[in-house]
Amino acid sequence: MRNYNRRKRVLVSGGAGFLGSHLVERLLDRGDEVLCVDNLFTGSKRNIERFLAHPRFEFVRHDVTFPLYVEVDQIYNLACPASPVHYQHDPVQTTKTSVHGAINMLGLAKRLNARIFQASTSEVYGDPAIHPQSESYWGNVNPIGIRSCYDEGKRCAETLFFDYHRQHKLDIRVARIFNTYGPRMHPNDGRVVSNFIMQALRGEDITIYGDGSQTRSFCYVDDLIDGFIRFMDLSAGADGSPGFPGPINLGNPVEFTIRQLAEMVIRLTASPSKMIFKPLPADDPMQRKPDITLAKKYLNDWAPSVSLEEGLNKTIRYFEEFA
Ligand code: NAD
Ligand code: UDP
Ligand code: UDP
Repeated sequence: MRNYNRRKRVLVSGGAGFLGSHLVERLLDRGDEVLCVDNLFTGSKRNIERFLAHPRFEFVRHDVTFPLYVEVDQIYNLACPASPVHYQHDPVQTTKTSVHGAINMLGLAKRLNARIFQASTSEVYGDPAIHPQSESYWGNVNPIGIRSCYDEGKRCAETLFFDYHRQHKLDIRVARIFNTYGPRMHPNDGRVVSNFIMQALRGEDITIYGDGSQTRSFCYVDDLIDGFIRFMDLSAGADGSPGFPGPINLGNPVEFTIRQLAEMVIRLTASPSKMIFKPLPADDPMQRKPDITLAKKYLNDWAPSVSLEEGLNKTIRYFEEFA
């Protein structure tokens, strides 16, 4: 009780997911009280079981599309399925999670006058015509395609965040996250890194969609979480005005083709797997690479430090027990 007033109470929605569980861990390590709110749609208790006995950790099973009344000092809004396979499974629910979830988390932040972080995405740029993507680019997004529930949901959430910022002077932090991977991704998540590693470890064919010439830039989870916390902790102005709201790109600017990724995973796992080619899903972006100039400027020279090879090795070790 003695430290009660000095401790930050932090809400992490989506805290039982891949990124959320890493964020929870970092916040507990630095002494915060953490309230993890998750409906376990894509997250799992397994991701947070190591925290359940922690005196500063609390888990609430709750769907953010419904109102939530709790008392906290900061909010990280991560609740939303992130893998195309999962967010396309129930696309109406995906839009509701992004939009109604944002409204409820923003309403909560407004009542508490709490700073609130939004996990936005590089998908707001769609299939980008500008390369690399900087925050000033408005994007190239199909409003009625199979990825739209996620892309437009996240775009609408950004709109809501900036309107609460302008209209209610809410202190917001909007981060556009580029492809991130690491331990605690769901092994059947459907995203490229988990698919390739699981296929390689099981000696199955590596499924490349399209000809594998499309690009992504992969960030290791520890680098990303470091960026989250630096951004959230950026102080407000001396006059009490909110700090820099973003949007800010967070990701690793080193770009790879999907074919190069497949070759690297095969090499690092010493797998007998062969690459096979399958049709490219609709609206699959052909290139993606963040311009991180703004993040470097505002976040004390933040830049990812873990190479793809190093990060993949750690991720492969994690996935071995599932193969
Ligand atoms: P994830 O699927 O592992 O985690 C999402 C979490 O949100 C899960 O625990 C899930 O159960 C929970 N959730 C989903 N709908 C919910 C709801 N209605 N109410 C409460 N909880 C709900 O995915 P992740 O990779 O950890 O992504 C976390 C956030 O970061 C997401 O908002 C995602 O859009 C964003 N993001 C991730 C990446 C990436 O590469 N990992 C890239 C861009 C953006
Ligand atoms: N809300 C919430 N927790 C709170 C405060 C608000 O879940 O502590 C929800 C509430 O259900 C509302 C939404 O956030 O629908 C938006 O709140 P806001 O105050 O911005 O709007 P209003 O209540 O006027 O619709
Ligand atoms: N991809 C692939 N094989 C797979 C899974 C994905 O070739 O088994 C491709 C996918 O078509 C996309 C890229 O890898 O071009 C990244 O896909 P992911 O679903 O991980 O994330 P996205 O960046 O598309 O949201």
